[in-house]
Amino acid sequence: MSLLEKLTSLSKRRGFIYPNSEIYGGLSGIWDYGPLGAELKRNIKNAFWEEMVQKNENIFGIDAAIVMHPKVWEASGHLESFSDPLVECKNCHHRFRADHLKENLCPDCKGELTAPKKFNLLVETYLGVVEGEKLKTYLRGEITQGVHVNFKNILNSSRAKIPFGVAQIGKAFRNEITPGNFTFRSREFEQMELQFYVKPNLEESFKWLDYWKEKRLNWYLNLGFKKENLRFKEHQKDELAHYAKAAFDLEYLLEGEWKEMEGIHHRGDWDLRRHSDFSGEDLTYFDDETKERYLPYIIETSGGVDRVFLFLLANAYFEDEIGGEKRIVLKLNPQLAPYKVAVFPLLANKPQLIKLAREIYKNLHNEMMTVWDDRGNIGKRYRFQDEIGTPFCVTVDFESLEKNDVTVRSRDTTKQTRIKINQLNTFLKDAIKKETIDF
Ligand code: ATP
Repeated sequence: MSLLEKLTSLSKRRGFIYPNSEIYGGLSGIWDYGPLGAELKRNIKNAFWEEMVQKNENIFGIDAAIVMHPKVWEASGHLESFSDPLVECKNCHHRFRADHLKENLCPDCKGELTAPKKFNLLVETYLGVVEGEKLKTYLRGEITQGVHVNFKNILNSSRAKIPFGVAQIGKAFRNEITPGNFTFRSREFEQMELQFYVKPNLEESFKWLDYWKEKRLNWYLNLGFKKENLRFKEHQKDELAHYAKAAFDLEYLLEGEWKEMEGIHHRGDWDLRRHSDFSGEDLTYFDDETKERYLPYIIETSGGVDRVFLFLLANAYFEDEIGGEKRIVLKLNPQLAPYKVAVFPLLANKPQLIKLAREIYKNLHNEMMTVWDDRGNIGKRYRFQDEIGTPFCVTVDFESLEKNDVTVRSRDTTKQTRIKINQLNTFLKDAIKKETIDF
């Protein structure tokens, strides 16, 4: 089984990710996040927000709508240029992205392929109730435009001064020709982005590009990605998107193949210039210091929440052996793990143990995501928690009743230590703040 197959299976088995509308046969390229997946995803998004919005005085967060005026997509260039080259097999009629094929024959039946034609990725939708008068528009193909069309609103309603940024997290939709590799290429997915506005000076703007490359790389390292599994790949001139002056993909090494996780782009003044032209609104910025009016340049960092999620699972997945028994363990950064701690009574049929364990559970779940488990034996419970990445397990045993302490067991080393019950919350809160478990 490949790692992706193992992750797909684990995700469904334990409730990270399910195929969408599965009871009706599923929908290609669309996925649902289960109870654990919803937690992990929220933790990734919170970590992004904390790093970008909370910790930067000059970055503001917004939450724009998924549906926008159709003119937006004309102005942004997506109606004209947001397309991939589509080829169809003349024999089996399967369709493929021409730039993803290794040879000029159908990968499914070796049939002859048609010449590539441009296939627009925007997903159409219709608004309104009167047939014939419905407004045709699109589900956003990227979340970026929701920021740029609000440039003037943000300037007028905040104290933003260049250089400043606007961060956003939200859904985007693309009619991908060949969705696949689990959630890697989905048709509905989430992006987390920064649009950073700077002076329209080439040298200065490229310094900001370098600045954000480094910042974003460090963020991923802090999440627990290993340095050797990350790299930047620069786009060659002929690979650049229609809006870009320069672009770097931050890639993750998945099963020997480098895959894009985030794009860092120099968008020049493309977006603001086009929206000024198409809307007739003046979107220039007045610089108080230099007394100049200009359209700023934009440095963008655009990551895919679902890809970060998938690569975090891949990065954390290990199979090892404990006391001769095989286990699967997700060594997720404790700050990202869906549950921080599991609480067990050693035996499920001893009321004194249950009573104390329930008290501890209630105390903990006011402060962190805590899970209760009294099924099966302790070994099984540990295996289960290891598989879903819970960094700590707390067991209440008979000694606990006498000594007011519990066993805390580490997911990564499987070592155990005894902690006084009145110090447990503080101990765990401190341990969770660390990226790795050190006992
Ligand atoms: P790709 O080359 O893989 O199609 P892209 O270069 O078109 O991606 P961007 O338009 O730069 O991607 O989007 C920014 C980020 O959004 C990507 O780095 C990726 O993490 C995420 N993303 C883009 N398309 C998808 C998709 N179909 N499914 C999941 N995430 C995606």
